[in-house]
Formats: sequence, structure tokens, C-alpha cells
Amino acid sequence: MTRRLDLTGARYGRLIVLEEVEPRGKYRRYLCQCDCGNKTVVNMNDLRSGNTKSCGCLHKDAGKRVAKFDETRLKHKGVATQLLQNKVRKDSTTGIKGVYAYQNNSGTIVYRATIGIKGKEIYLGTYDTIEDAAEARKHGEAIYHEPYLKEVNLTKQQSRLTGSAKGIHVRVPEDLHRKIVESAEQNHRSINAEILYHLEQVYRGTC
Ligand SMILES: [Zn+2]
Repeated sequence: MTRRLDLTGARYGRLIVLEEVEPRGKYRRYLCQCDCGNKTVVNMNDLRSGNTKSCGCLHKDAGKRVAKFDETRLKHKGVATQLLQNKVRKDSTTGIKGVYAYQNNSGTIVYRATIGIKGKEIYLGTYDTIEDAAEARKHGEAIYHEPYLKEVNLTKQQSRLTGSAKGIHVRVPEDLHRKIVESAEQNHRSINAEILYHLEQVYRGTC
């Protein structure tokens, strides 16, 4: 017979294991004391795997750090929207973003237009004149970039709270908290705005 594992007294991140409590289904669970003062019940597997290292305060702190992050690195639906508005590269052959001049096989200069989105480069055609290539690039921006830029501006507007806003303090399970932080980062908005967005959908049926 194997000895039953006992985690009592062990430390996992900010948590110290106090005692084993009622299992939930087949999952053994422990009551833990968090360094921040909270007590929390955690599945044994989550402690041992390192999935859970606090009562949730660790991610709360991480969320604060995310909020302070350089905005240019935040992505909206996988697109670094700030980068879409960057100026033309210094090594550009034409001075127009996404338009490259090169000599084709028959020796004439042609202009190749491309646009980048989500790490992929989309080919927009090769043209005899720089104007045509620039036009193609402009058209590409309208199709591939503008929808993302519009959405970001929209979510920025939605995230603006009125003076009459009231706070509600909610304790959230750690795994859900992690999802909210990630989702807020992806959607390029504050954690508050992220939660508000979903609450409004449920309670107002709008947005
Ligand atoms: Zn804590």
C-alpha cells in the first residue's frame, strides 16, 4: 500500500497548506493560508502543478502590471494596432509604407505593394507606377487595418466611465481572474472595462 500524500505545512508560492478539506468529486482539496491574509481552498493537483500560487492576489498584482504595460505592445484580437499606425521604415525604397521598388526581369523598375496583418504579409499586386502601388496599399489598409483600428477606438470609448459610476467589489476564482486579465490585454482595454463590457451584455443586452 502506498503512503497517502500529505501537503500540510508545505508552501506553494504565496500559499501555505493548512489542512485537507472535503474532496470535491475525485479531487482532494486543501485549505491554504495566503501571504496576503486570505484563506482559500485549492485542489491538490493545482498546488502541486504550480497552477495555483495564491488566493488570486498574485494575478491581481500581475493585472496591475499589465495595465502599466507599454501600450504599443498590447494587441487587439491578435493585432498590434499601435504598430499599424507606425511611420514608414527608414530603409523604405519608396517612402511609402508597404510599397517596394525593384527591378524586374526585363530591367524596368516596378512597385510591389503588400500589407502585414497578424504577422502575415499579404500581396496586393505589382504596379508600373508608384501611384498605383500606393493606391493599392491604401485600399489594403481600408480592408485589413481599419476594422481593427475602429474597434479599438470603440472599446476605448466604451471604457470611459461616467461620474456616476459605482464600484462593486467581487471576489473571482483564480482561473477566471487569469482569463479576465488575458482577455483584457488582448482586447486592449483595462480589466475594469473588460468586465464591464461583459456585464453590460448580460444586464443591458446592448453593446
Ligand atoms: Zn492572497
